[in-house]
Amino acid sequence: MADTKEILELERRHFWPPYTQASVYFASEHPVIERADGVFLYDTEGNRYYDMISSWWVNLHGHNHPVINAAIAEQVQKVSHCAMASLTNEPAVRLAAELAELCPPDLSRVFFSDDGSTAVEVAMKMAFQYFHNKGVTGRTRFAAFTGAYHGDTLGTVALGGVDLFHKLFKPTLIPVHRAPAPPCHACPHGRVRTDCDAECFAAIEEALLPHVGELVAVIVEPVVQGAVGMQMYSPKVLTALRRFCDKHDILLIDDEVAMAFGRTGRTFAFEHAGIVPDIVCAAKGLTGGYLPLAVTIASEEIYQSFLGEAGGTKTFYHGHSFTGNPLGAAAARASMRIYREERLPQREERLRAFSEMMETFSDKAWAHDVRWIGMVGALDIKANDGTAFDPALGVGRMVSARALREGVYLRPLGDTIYFLPPLSITRDEMLDMAARVGRAVESVLADIGTLGG
Ligand code: PLP
Repeated sequence: MADTKEILELERRHFWPPYTQASVYFASEHPVIERADGVFLYDTEGNRYYDMISSWWVNLHGHNHPVINAAIAEQVQKVSHCAMASLTNEPAVRLAAELAELCPPDLSRVFFSDDGSTAVEVAMKMAFQYFHNKGVTGRTRFAAFTGAYHGDTLGTVALGGVDLFHKLFKPTLIPVHRAPAPPCHACPHGRVRTDCDAECFAAIEEALLPHVGELVAVIVEPVVQGAVGMQMYSPKVLTALRRFCDKHDILLIDDEVAMAFGRTGRTFAFEHAGIVPDIVCAAKGLTGGYLPLAVTIASEEIYQSFLGEAGGTKTFYHGHSFTGNPLGAAAARASMRIYREERLPQREERLRAFSEMMETFSDKAWAHDVRWIGMVGALDIKANDGTAFDPALGVGRMVSARALREGVYLRPLGDTIYFLPPLSITRDEMLDMAARVGRAVESVLADIGTLGG
């Protein structure tokens, strides 16, 4: 067994933690994860934690899955990596074909990269060059929603609309037009997202209309805006946006990095809207959460526009060292096989159990805007009267620490906690996990003296 103290000491000296204020991170001890199985993570001290966030939204079928393990073990004996330039490899090519099969017919061309951010970067460059290839000039800008999150590279940061993460970098960024995200948490039209007519699209249209002549593409997180706080909106907004893009000859980029492969109860979240985007980005769950691999899936029309002479300006000069990595592709093929065969997200009983779990919070006075779609749920921790806590209090952070003691690994977004477990989680596990989360929240609120009836 690893020496916990030694690992933590080495970490304190040499590791730079992501998305975290290091001085806070290193002020307390945290679990050193040694192994994982199903929906559980185990640390070096023998403690067990529910992986309530699928290890940053990546794990699909549970950890240590025998089918994915076997696929990687088999592939590693053959070839772990080879360049995909003048060479090709079977796992990547078969995966591309299988992904095309999973998509509507027109989404037929798969471009590989490494993670969600690179998948979106590829989409941006592809979309821009598509207009160049067609001889259309003046299309140089992208549009995205307020509160958007599309990654951490500078191109994707430009698309982002979460001030905490993105504002600082503004002087370095390409200008992006901003449309107001559907405000479903407090609908100004008095509707609810599950029963509305996308009245908020009028404001989106108003924001975009002055720019249609210069827009390359509008990019969206479909149905759920994740990083800003798992804000959910009506698929009808996407349907209206597709119509708008068609009318003005603008591409629609659908960033499914977080939501693809069943999270929302459909294979791709865009399916809720009955639309077909021009470009789809996927990553995270693609390999079942085992290895970094991403895809940007484009329509045949976009692909065809890139065909031309060798050395000509229609060539897509983009690629990454690990493009089409065979190990990642083998893991992804295994994950997609499990996905196809088990149809986990579509199983009614699992979706019902998830609803049942989320409903356990509906009578908690501190749980506000309890919301879910498919197997993604969230709630905002607030005072009983709905007043948000002072962010300086760090209620979310306290809940996260307390939840670890209750055996649950969660990552709050401010004071929003969300439930995005592996799709393989059972009903009993869901209900047990939710009860532990409830205890963690209530013990924090009792400590700060705000736990009421
Ligand atoms: N797009 C969306 C919608 C995301 O949620 C994320 C990450 O959370 C990304 C892109 C970036 O993915 P990655 O962290 O793999 O670069």
